Amino acid sequence: MKLLEPFQFKSITLRNRMVMGAMHTRIETLDRPVERMAAFFEARAKGEAGLILTGGFAPNAVGKMEADAPVMDVNTPLEHHRPITDAVHAAGSRIVMQLLHAGRYAKHDQCVAPSSIRAPINRHTPRAMTIADIQSTIEDFAASAKRAQEAGYDGVEIMGSEGYLLNEFTCRATNVREDAYGGSFDNRIRLPLEIVHAIRAATDPDFLIVFRISSIDLVEGGMTGEETADYAQALERAGVDILNTGIGWHEAAIPTIAQSVPRAAWAFAIRNIKQAVAIPVIASNRINTPEVAETLLADGTCDFVSMARPFLADPEFAKKVRLGQSDRINTCIGCNQACLDHIFTERTATCMVNPFAGRELDLIVRPAATRRRIAVVGGGAAGMACASQAAARGHQVTLFEVQSRLGGQVNLAKAVPGKSEFNEMLRYFQFRLQDTGVEVRLNTQASPETLKQLGFDEIVIATGVTPRVPQIEGIDHPSVVRYDEVLSGKVTVGQRVAILGAGGIGFDMAEYLVGDEDAARDPARFLKDWGVDVSMAHPGGLSAGKTPSQPHTSRQVHLFQRKPDKPGATLGKSTGWILKAKLRKAQVTMVTGVQYERIDDEGLHYMVQGQPHCLPVDQVVLCTGQESNLSLMKALKEDGITAHAIGGAHIASELDAVRAIDEGTRLGLRL
Ligand code: NAP
Ligand code: SF4
Repeated sequence: MKLLEPFQFKSITLRNRMVMGAMHTRIETLDRPVERMAAFFEARAKGEAGLILTGGFAPNAVGKMEADAPVMDVNTPLEHHRPITDAVHAAGSRIVMQLLHAGRYAKHDQCVAPSSIRAPINRHTPRAMTIADIQSTIEDFAASAKRAQEAGYDGVEIMGSEGYLLNEFTCRATNVREDAYGGSFDNRIRLPLEIVHAIRAATDPDFLIVFRISSIDLVEGGMTGEETADYAQALERAGVDILNTGIGWHEAAIPTIAQSVPRAAWAFAIRNIKQAVAIPVIASNRINTPEVAETLLADGTCDFVSMARPFLADPEFAKKVRLGQSDRINTCIGCNQACLDHIFTERTATCMVNPFAGRELDLIVRPAATRRRIAVVGGGAAGMACASQAAARGHQVTLFEVQSRLGGQVNLAKAVPGKSEFNEMLRYFQFRLQDTGVEVRLNTQASPETLKQLGFDEIVIATGVTPRVPQIEGIDHPSVVRYDEVLSGKVTVGQRVAILGAGGIGFDMAEYLVGDEDAARDPARFLKDWGVDVSMAHPGGLSAGKTPSQPHTSRQVHLFQRKPDKPGATLGKSTGWILKAKLRKAQVTMVTGVQYERIDDEGLHYMVQGQPHCLPVDQVVLCTGQESNLSLMKALKEDGITAHAIGGAHIASELDAVRAIDEGTRLGLRL
């Protein structure tokens, strides 16, 4: 397998081709930051990642992404890093520090950029750098790299993609300078090249210089494919050892890493770089399984594969590949819900499918002191997480599921176009339950009598939620259906549909009704739909004069919400905009500030701002939230039996798989 082939770099041997990509986690802002970072990276090194790239460290204060972002400079104490590099090396991996100057993306008022042009995703307008600023920035990068070497890192990765400072210099739209660092192509790439030269001069010849190049900018004024290839060659000549690849700027209006992006969709842009240079190239973005990674190596797209979120989801990804246990990998499903969405909402990153990520010092697995018999009722995400965790600690666990298959609400979510990655979560849990010896009883309603009869020591109620049926006149009209009936395929809906409730499930329902799974699985279709020019003949890889693609369906869908607020406010920060853009394209209408009047043969009657309306529809789909399914819990209580409730059965509101798996795992660790 190519993934397992070692690679020799000067005096450094990388044990395989699997790279853990750089990720902003904010772990360094917690208590005991050095210990935490060391434990976090050590787990991935023990899991046999070939090369680990840290999250971004700024070379100076103005380059910090946010006020408490980490800096690497001459004053950084080495003891803040030695435990990290020592732990990784002891476990047989190599570690490279990413140096990231945030440029105009920095969330503070000292931010700088090639020109004073504000980023659409930042409220701060940058100050245009002077020549003196540029010179000191080059020196700061070199000093950071030198300090990183002293701290035991095997190299640095210069962050040159995603729209940060160096990318801002290379782009015509953000660099309107008229000096030696702006204007011509050679001038726009001058700063990155000078930084590479300065780092090479400041560090030992064996110290790795990785450069993350933007393989396709996806913004106006970005590079063409030809320019990117020329730039890659210039970086190689300047002394870069490895080219890592980035896809699209953070402000690009095209999704690059979300679940709805097909796996390996960006391979064409990476191949453009690979064919231009002799140095190794790392592929990145939406590569989440060994099979996809191996294909990219085998077909010559790249020499290494970077997987950032997949190593958050499973620190043992690489080890499982070596052991031939790829089917046991806890696959990153690209949801962004606990990693990027946490970062965008000022929280610390973790992982939906792996709550241990970033909490290596807090969530400790201890073998059970005494083996007890535990019943977990409900085989959704919370129940599966709890059952397998408790069993892994040595308990004898029985998991009861009333349906014929495990998964609960996950089975509904995976029916939504672009969400089929949830199948991987189900596959992982199936194996995990099997490997930990959980007895799974499908098609089994666990009654209080059964539970009493079987004499369990602990009972866990993970019975989930029941869709809420609101009090509206005519709610029992034949046109009214619940979201679970639609997503499970029990009922089919017609051409004119009103969706009541514009929360996460209402939006997902709209996508289910107008979306198309092929667009999320087929790279060519996805790239065309989003206006990406795969020939990269146009600046930024954007199709010139693109015409909006036609809606996939003639179905008319209307999304309703009682609140007057903008719909979609509760959607994930990193993915909500994608869903909204898709629904806009499919001409889904959104009506807010609605008062429902009644549902009858004419359709849905409602008021907006005191005005009555009637919308003729074939179906009204209820996505109006859920209530905890607590009937078993209550019955047990009446019999004087105490039980633990988790997931939706614990609190129905704002239930998502992140909370369900987290609660299940934590209880599984405590029992
Ligand atoms: P939700 O986000 O709470 O939305 C429920 C919707 O129903 C709201 O729009 C609410 O808005 C409406 N509603 C509530 N009670 C109602 C009533 N009695 N009559 C009429 N309308 C009523 O819940 P959800 O959509 O069921 O989602 C459940 C959880 O899953 C959420 O935490 C959500 O974040 C998560 N989820 C997330 C995603 C995603 O981010 N992609 C996808 C699926 C699920 P009004 O009261 O204003 O009408
Ligand atoms: Fe992947 Fe979702 Fe975990 Fe992020 S939270 S690492 S996207 S599975």
